[in-house]
Amino acid sequence: MEPGLDDIRAARDLISRHLPPTPMWSYPLLDRAAGAAVLVKHENAQPVGAFKVRGGLTLLAGMTGAERKAGTVTWSTGNHAQSLAYASHVFDAGCTVFMPAGTPEGKAAAVEGWGARAIRRGDSLEAAEQHAREHAERTGARLISPGDTPELLAGVGTVYLEIVEARPDVDVIVVPVGSGTGAAAACLVAGRPVIGVQSSASRAAHDSWRAGELVTRPNRTTVAGLATGRGFELPQRIMRDRLADFLLVDDDRITEARRLLATAAHTLAEGAGAAALAGVLSRPDLFHGKRVAVVCTGGNADADELATLRRG
Ligand SMILES: *Cc1c(COP(=O)(O)O)cnc(C)c1O
Repeated sequence: MEPGLDDIRAARDLISRHLPPTPMWSYPLLDRAAGAAVLVKHENAQPVGAFKVRGGLTLLAGMTGAERKAGTVTWSTGNHAQSLAYASHVFDAGCTVFMPAGTPEGKAAAVEGWGARAIRRGDSLEAAEQHAREHAERTGARLISPGDTPELLAGVGTVYLEIVEARPDVDVIVVPVGSGTGAAAACLVAGRPVIGVQSSASRAAHDSWRAGELVTRPNRTTVAGLATGRGFELPQRIMRDRLADFLLVDDDRITEARRLLATAAHTLAEGAGAAALAGVLSRPDLFHGKRVAVVCTGGNADADELATLRRG
């Protein structure tokens, strides 16, 4: 199934019972730095600190009682895990998350805080995915792909309904990309150009989009939300003819954008949450004088990320 605008509208009806719309603000010092009228959509203000909670709630709301009883299993470095754990808590369902062994303790604790099981195993996200698949086969829990699950994509699309309804004058929307669900959903809703941003150290989604086929790439970014080693089929199919452009930025530029959000917009962003702004700052030729919505997708900076705010 490929979700469409109707599914995203339906998702909004579902999640509006659980989440108020997030604020979107502008900041003069950001505008000055960017040479554009920047609107920051504050998904860092969500209950789990990231936009993905919209997808998790949409998925769980649509599951039957029997499915909820069997529970879900997934793999994640953090926010997808917290989203699913939170939604499973709200809908009283079981949830198991496999995280790479090196995932910071705090990210596992956040998942366990919502009553889900976090298992840190495997030396990469890909290895964690394999453990999740085996767990699903063994237990009958539903395997939830962070990228290829239509309900998640429909749910996260509600961000973009809020943006275009609040500000019909927005010229362009800039979205950080990991698996691509957010950017794909934005393309379905936006009615204006959507530009994706990924880290140059993890460019699988970018390269898949450019190539028109799914590719794997080294996954070396320190920016958790943008970290993927492969393209995902569903979001890539949607983005293929609809995404206006796809930018790559270095992790260092993302750190600079995090500092700017902290000082100019009193906003604590994690790396992925600052990546859209980093994309705008990196390409004045594309954005100068435009009204640009940047999605601050999350604020779950870990201790290492927080420490880098001081340097530079
Ligand atoms: C997951 C995530 C992204 C990337 O979203 P996709 O839908 O996987 O492309 C961006 N920012 C944050 C904070 C995230 O958690």
